[in-house]
Amino acid sequence: MRIAIGGLHHETNSFSNIPITKAILDRALVGENLRATMGGVRNYVGGFFAAGEELGVEVVPTVMGYCTPSGHITKEAMEIHRDRIVEAMWAAHQEKPLDAIALNLHGAGVADDYHDADAEILRAVRERFGADMPIGIAMDLHANIDDPLVAMANTVVGVKGYPHVDMFETGIIVFKQLVEMVKTGTRPAIGLARLPWLIAPAEGVTTSGPAHDVQQLCYRKEEEVEKLMAATFFQGFPYADVAECAVTVVTVAEDQETADKVAHDIATYAWNRRRDFAVPANSAEKAFDLAMQLDNSKAPIVINESSDNTGGGGPGDGTHLVREMVKRNLPGSAYGYIYDPEVAAQAAKAGIGAKIDCMLGAKMDKLHGEPLELKGAYVKTISDGVFINQSPMGGGGRTNLGLTVCLEVGNVCVIVGSNRTQPMDDGVFRVAGLRWDLLKYVALKSSQHFKGWWLERAGGIVPCDSPGIHCADLKVFNFENTNTTYFPLGDPEWK
Ligand SMILES: [Zn+2]
Repeated sequence: MRIAIGGLHHETNSFSNIPITKAILDRALVGENLRATMGGVRNYVGGFFAAGEELGVEVVPTVMGYCTPSGHITKEAMEIHRDRIVEAMWAAHQEKPLDAIALNLHGAGVADDYHDADAEILRAVRERFGADMPIGIAMDLHANIDDPLVAMANTVVGVKGYPHVDMFETGIIVFKQLVEMVKTGTRPAIGLARLPWLIAPAEGVTTSGPAHDVQQLCYRKEEEVEKLMAATFFQGFPYADVAECAVTVVTVAEDQETADKVAHDIATYAWNRRRDFAVPANSAEKAFDLAMQLDNSKAPIVINESSDNTGGGGPGDGTHLVREMVKRNLPGSAYGYIYDPEVAAQAAKAGIGAKIDCMLGAKMDKLHGEPLELKGAYVKTISDGVFINQSPMGGGGRTNLGLTVCLEVGNVCVIVGSNRTQPMDDGVFRVAGLRWDLLKYVALKSSQHFKGWWLERAGGIVPCDSPGIHCADLKVFNFENTNTTYFPLGDPEWK
């Protein structure tokens, strides 16, 4: 048996001014390089490879694009990437027939002229291979899902965890379902329940609270309902600002009746809990006031700025929280990290031991604060910013912050990187020469994913929701295409 794999992993925040260009997608992982890079990594594609190995199925790597969440994909980049996937799969099929195709699509990708980039890739693959080819999709929990995508797929399964610690397992599930389809000749039914509801990522953690309860219900249904093969609660991604934005439940079952019933049951439970999804809207100042009330004698208190989460399209150079940390000047403070390649280069040029004056951050747009003026910042370390992620989410993968410096400003270490990425573990501090366990206050830009590593280690976690394009208050956004009658912007009926 031979199964091709490929896809695109891009979450679009339509309020970002950073486009995904052809040059970025030219760096997609292709063929054996995809296997060499992602084999053994705790993500979806790592799961595809692992399942293939376990079942003795040949995995044919084609083209997989990974982007740091940003703005729209340009039309050119989208079409070239789509065609590369289709052509690589078709060439493999000509060489020796494929039995199935496993795609990894994020589900919140938006391109110029293609408001559902993920459905467009699936459409092109389906069109080339025809209705009989089993095609399965492993997706992100923040996917915005609508009928066209579901109609073209034979299975759709998303991660249940936020942080997405089960990407690897989700890849395995999809791959194994495809193998079953090939062996038995059957195709599962897919159920889709769309709710008139938008969840801000800051509200969606599944380690506790209402999203945890919905997640557990999905697991229970999978265990209890005999004909059910998978159930996913997709939280959606409202900042994509497309008509598809919504919370959905997607089920995969042996028959349509089961798929529809379970999707409706889970959706009903989640909908009835919708008012429980909320997060405190702490300013940076309030967040520090709260953090200082917590016990940091054994482990640092972590303050996370969700509003400028690069993992959700934030520029990563917002200054609200770093400004407050520098102002407070508490011993043992570290900010990990802010994106500012100019300042990183300036510090590296000055060299270790130098003192520099600089204007830090807030250069990408006008939505994330003003540049922070630093005078006499001491250049403590300079690094290439490369490390191996140790988190259960994506662990084993290579992270590259680019040229990274640690600036000492009073009691505060401010880490400055040159690539945008979301901090998942303590790697940011490792490359800066800092030990996380010796710190007292840590600040970072992430909504939930940092918890995959930090939850068990932090002395406490305090969320901060400064102004920004990933902030939790959906009422501040001027949505053009997201349905603003949906809860919590409106108060619609659903049953
Ligand atoms: Zn996600």
